[in-house]
Amino acid sequence: MGSNVRQEAIKTIATTTHKLNRIDFRTTHIKDLFGINVFGEEEQKQRLPKPMFKSLQKTVKLGTTLDPNVADAVASAMKDWAIEHGCTHYTHLFQPLTGLTAEKHDSFLNPTPNGRALAEFSGKELVKGEPDASSFPSGGSRSTFEARGYTGWDPTSPAYIREGANGSTLVIPTIFVSWTGEALDKKTPLLKSMEALSTQAMRILKLYGHADVKKVFTTVGPEQEYFLIDKNFLYGRPDLLNTGRTLFGAKPPKGQELEDQYFGTIPERVLACMADCEAELFKLGVPVKTRHNEVAPSQYELAPIFEDSNLATDHNQLAMDVMRRTAEVYGLVCLLHEKPFAGINGSGKHNNWSMSTDTGENLLNPGDTPHDNAQFLLFFVAVIRAVAKYPELLRVTVASAGNDHRLGANEAPPAIISIFLGDQLQDVMDQLEAGALKSTKQGGQMEIGVTVLPKLPRDAGDRNRTSPFAFTGNKFEFRAVGSSFSISGPNVVLNTIVAESLDFMATNLEKATAAGKDLHKAVQDLLPGILKESKKVVYNGDGYTEEWQQEAERRGLPNLKTTVDAIPMIIRKDSIDLFTKYKVFTEKELQSRYVIFSESYVKTITIEANMMVMMAKTMILPAGLRYQSEVATAVTTTKAAGVENGAQLEALKELTGVITGFQGATAALEKVLAHHAEGDAFAHAKAMRDTVVPKMVELRTLGDKLETIVADDLWPIPTYREMLFIK
Ligand code: ADP
Ligand code: MG
Repeated sequence: MGSNVRQEAIKTIATTTHKLNRIDFRTTHIKDLFGINVFGEEEQKQRLPKPMFKSLQKTVKLGTTLDPNVADAVASAMKDWAIEHGCTHYTHLFQPLTGLTAEKHDSFLNPTPNGRALAEFSGKELVKGEPDASSFPSGGSRSTFEARGYTGWDPTSPAYIREGANGSTLVIPTIFVSWTGEALDKKTPLLKSMEALSTQAMRILKLYGHADVKKVFTTVGPEQEYFLIDKNFLYGRPDLLNTGRTLFGAKPPKGQELEDQYFGTIPERVLACMADCEAELFKLGVPVKTRHNEVAPSQYELAPIFEDSNLATDHNQLAMDVMRRTAEVYGLVCLLHEKPFAGINGSGKHNNWSMSTDTGENLLNPGDTPHDNAQFLLFFVAVIRAVAKYPELLRVTVASAGNDHRLGANEAPPAIISIFLGDQLQDVMDQLEAGALKSTKQGGQMEIGVTVLPKLPRDAGDRNRTSPFAFTGNKFEFRAVGSSFSISGPNVVLNTIVAESLDFMATNLEKATAAGKDLHKAVQDLLPGILKESKKVVYNGDGYTEEWQQEAERRGLPNLKTTVDAIPMIIRKDSIDLFTKYKVFTEKELQSRYVIFSESYVKTITIEANMMVMMAKTMILPAGLRYQSEVATAVTTTKAAGVENGAQLEALKELTGVITGFQGATAALEKVLAHHAEGDAFAHAKAMRDTVVPKMVELRTLGDKLETIVADDLWPIPTYREMLFIK
């Protein structure tokens, strides 16, 4: 027998040594690395004339419109800085609806009439770009003849340098819109939703007399989970390479049941890779803070310090990109898919979210004074009301073919959106709902604007990992987001639904106070009604249980189990009303996203199913048949020798049975794949879920069964026990 890709991979891994020491932190201090590749405030200050710098900072910090003269000065300073750092090109980086980032590079070179050249970069080039955009998903919001798309500089997310082996590139974060002004990207609606929230939050703050506050930002700290496995395995795994997940693979004898991986010692090569990755991210100004082993074997987590949502979103995209690239340097591959391996934990992204003033006050931080508490309670209840009113919208932001393997399975939050508060806050909420606050769990009397809240334990929320949306002391943590997602979508929805709640509350309070009512009294009168309506979404128990599924149904909470169930929610009338009211999406933009989400689901499942058929026919079936022939030979030769061989005959029968079933399942999958569904993209997505997905599951079960009976030396595909444990 010749060797196969799988055996080659293992041999190569066993004999390869990696150069691990690439950075010496004794000579390169992390504090000196931070932000060196960013054209940030410090650099701008040094290179721009003072008035220009001030004007730019005003745009960055308060969102004022940028003066065109300033753009020219910034472009020139940015170019000089970039060229000094070895840049030859610049790019407008945007975030099309694929969820990835896109870029086209232009050089700074500009030929002169005398046959020489200058390096040039004008304000116009900085501010606006025009990539050929016809091939990005638009969901029918434009036809090819009007395919022009524009990128527009986002001065609130600083430009940075991406180092390359042969010359570096100046990267300018941008929005991406069609020539008719429709958002074709993930950044535009995010900025709009932040604006909407700021406007409404400011109304509340005004009632509380915060004259110093000019703007409210939403803040996000996304905890990123991922897998790292040896790159050699990828070559024998066309499924991982092309779809990001394993479509076949028997459960390994050892999985995560010993719980020896979570927070365990980080393997040396992985640690080296993490440190390198972090150094790279430091240079790019991404404040990465925490690293650790996750629950599943070969699974890890990276968490940054929170930033404003726009920056946090850009930085998370950057982090995923740097993680992928750095892994390669260490002979590893970084898997960001939500479920690369069946049967062990998948990967998510915990979206820690709060609201903060431009003066640095976290609005979800319970205060020490009665006044602060009253304000905290308002913002806090606004979030509860928002989640209770629009759970379907939050659900749809975490929907994808990949995340369908996670949500509702027993290691990730269920598909039912609910909020975890913890005992103490629950007690406060119950009393608020009942009317005047009297006593708290810690005793004493409580009344809004008169007494302080009990000291809330910071980690109260974190202990319940089964809740998709938990209050964790001074922020909410949305845990249903998939690991490969752009966090833009979830935050657009969070910002907008909370803006709507704040609007509702501000309108009520403004009216009451204008009529002469005391603010605290007005708040005290307002909250019980809201809590009565919203409390159905609060659940402090175990979200993984069957009881919760039933209880949620009794409460009338939506349980949108799959992506296909969730997608239509974005074009429901109340969703359209909400997004258009706060000018976050137009109806046309929502319709286009409805189409894009559907198409994306169809494409993912189609690619996976085709890949399964290919692997079934060209890798698994041949291995099965070879083994079958070996066993058959053994049976006949033994029989010829005159020896009784009942057990061997049974084994042959079993094997033949599984192979026959496997062939039948392959044919069945091919058949449903060949059938083209009638109707629009959504109808197509529904057909994929109902006909193709079940056949994929059947085929996989039989393929995995074969893996457990075919001779190991004949099995061609790297196995779970190898990919997850050979480090
Ligand atoms: P926990 O122990 O509750 O998970 P951590 O302190 O470990 O909290 O923080 C987890 C993530 O939450 C980090 O990325 C952190 O920066 C982020 N975070 C903390 N405070 C806020 C906030 N006010 N807004 C948004 N994210 C926050
Ligand atoms: Mg956490």
